[in-house]
Amino acid sequence: MSDNLFALVRQRIGTPGKLFIETSDGRRFTYADMLDLSARLAHVLTSRGVQTGDRVAVQVEKSAEAIMLYLACLRAGAVYLPLNTAYTLAELEYFIGDAEPRMVVASPRNGAALGQLASRLGVSATETLGTSGDGSLMELARSMPADFADVARSKDDLAAILYTSGTTGRSKGAMLTHWNLASNALTLEEYWRFTADDLLLHALPIFHTHGLFVATNTILMANASMLFLPKLDADEMMRLMPRATCMMGVPTFYVRLLQEPRLNRETTAHMRLFVSGSAPLLAETHRAWSERTGHAILERYGMTETNMSTSNPYDGDRVPGTVGFPLPGVELRVVDPESGAALADGEVGMIEVKGPNVFKGYWRMPEKTAAEFKPDGFFITGDLGKIDERGYVHIVGRGKDLVITGGYNVYPKEVETEIDSIPGVVESAVIGVPHPDFGEGVTAVVVVPPGSTLTEKDVLSRLEGRLAKFKQPKRVFLTQELPRNTMGKVQKNVLREQHKDLYAK
Ligand code: AMP
Repeated sequence: MSDNLFALVRQRIGTPGKLFIETSDGRRFTYADMLDLSARLAHVLTSRGVQTGDRVAVQVEKSAEAIMLYLACLRAGAVYLPLNTAYTLAELEYFIGDAEPRMVVASPRNGAALGQLASRLGVSATETLGTSGDGSLMELARSMPADFADVARSKDDLAAILYTSGTTGRSKGAMLTHWNLASNALTLEEYWRFTADDLLLHALPIFHTHGLFVATNTILMANASMLFLPKLDADEMMRLMPRATCMMGVPTFYVRLLQEPRLNRETTAHMRLFVSGSAPLLAETHRAWSERTGHAILERYGMTETNMSTSNPYDGDRVPGTVGFPLPGVELRVVDPESGAALADGEVGMIEVKGPNVFKGYWRMPEKTAAEFKPDGFFITGDLGKIDERGYVHIVGRGKDLVITGGYNVYPKEVETEIDSIPGVVESAVIGVPHPDFGEGVTAVVVVPPGSTLTEKDVLSRLEGRLAKFKQPKRVFLTQELPRNTMGKVQKNVLREQHKDLYAK
């Protein structure tokens, strides 16, 4: 039997007439439609020269058809390569040059420009795909046969390449195999108890692992359904919430929805599960959500390279500020970043993971790949964290965000937690900024509500006696918002850049 992820998808379609995706403009796609459309699109791919192992680079707005295209790539044995819709032509030049796709799919408004770029880079086929079944790709699909002989793939063959967001240096293409995706989807379906009765409120982008794999593959495993929204829209989400059974979101979703007066026990009564990930969920948000809705958000942790690695339990305590336990089949350890020695529970170090979820390596970067895997197969995530006495994993931050001041390590999360507990503070980000005497100077950017009278001095005096002197920020900046990317991650690189000359002599 083939280990193509699509073989598994096909096998788990209990009821072909069941809804797979409903879009916000009211179009409905059943599992039977999915089989039909993905077959037609697979024929389009092969007729335009896409062969087994070829990359198909896709930069389109979110639509049900884009998911069908992803599935068509699986069926044709091609490698799906979704690209952030925010990338500019200059950025796309790097991705297309690096990935050398056989085909590029653009949204209709970018078709001409991207087509030109692609052909300059030697890509022979460019097609377009819109959000309402429009574009050249669907045009071609209409005249294609509605069945397709899926290409056999082994577990280790590539299904997708996702470029990491790359806040330092060049973005790297994470190579994900059919089994990486299939094993993780099967695990999540079971761990989070997905069934064919589920209807997922889906407002995430689908160029990222969260909306594409965590959400869509898990739904596919359960023969369940999704309500597709183009993006975070609190008003629309509140309107649809009473129909849904579950939601997956980044922390920003929860923060925004908490501002909705309609969010309460009644409007969420039909929901059985709220999942958060991709960035840290403030413990405060977790508590506020529980109070308002009676639901404890389930926080999980993963990354493009590893799919999902840990999750809070479905039954049992979902502990705010933690990302739960390693998922079944995933090994996770915390080690000393310098010596590599395993650390005792409670000690902060580098998180390393191993399991069927972990990617195959970085596309055409064998040295980078070798540098980030240990000889015993563990992947060095770059995240710092610890395991507490109950076995819950805590993420302390990215290793590269660690501040080293006067030779001492300062974990930004520790300082941020203290700052966040000051009345009148919404949230904070602590960064290291080049400092002539200390190497780096601890610097805090603190979010306060409009009209706040809190001052830098107030924040500093509140930290006196609560944090060792070397951990206390040298400067505090008050602001109303932190820079975030589409996945809700605070862009500390942007903050570091903004403040880089702060301590220059
Ligand atoms: P990405 O590859 O874009 O999915 O980003 C992965 C990174 O997001 C991880 O390496 C973590 O730094 C961060 N991340 C994901 N989930 C969480 C979480 N629940 N809490 C804290 N950080 C997270």
